[in-house]
Amino acid sequence: MDRERLWLEFVNTDDTRRGERVDSMRDFAALVRWLETHGVLDAERAAGIRRRAEQQPAGASAALADARRIRAALRALAERGAHETRVRADVLAELNRVLGRSAGTRRVEARDDATFVRAFVPGGDAFAGLVMPIVESAADALVLGELARVRRCADPRCSHVFLDGTKNGRRRWCDMRTCGNRAKAARHRIKVRP
Ligand SMILES: [Zn+2]
Repeated sequence: MDRERLWLEFVNTDDTRRGERVDSMRDFAALVRWLETHGVLDAERAAGIRRRAEQQPAGASAALADARRIRAALRALAERGAHETRVRADVLAELNRVLGRSAGTRRVEARDDATFVRAFVPGGDAFAGLVMPIVESAADALVLGELARVRRCADPRCSHVFLDGTKNGRRRWCDMRTCGNRAKAARHRIKVRP
């Protein structure tokens, strides 16, 4: 699948399979792994964060809880932000809470696949800045006017959100190979029924 906007991929870690909620961010280690696979942390910084988490387990749990809270806000933004002023205002406050929180160095870094990612190297509390690139990605979406093209998959059993990049803006499924294909097969079954 094409790489999705970082904040939307983060929302999609709170997944649903066959109607059951499946959170792939079940502990702090999973959060760090996700940040590493998505190029937000390089191997060295990820190792540093893991060491810090061993020394400060309470801080790590708080950082995980914070990441989940931000994820819930970003899901609200993705699903309802384009239509509901109140949701936009609430999420904006949440984004600014994170953006204003910690000092550090902002960077843009090259990934192995020739794409780029924003990175944030916290100056103070290492945990506080972990979600910064995710929040910045959501802020970019607002600034670039992308919100109207953010959708939730049309399959009610699927909770994936995505950015509709099609010209006509009528993409309905998170992925044509999974949800889109299932819908096509279902339509076909209805058609051939005598
Ligand atoms: Zn889907």
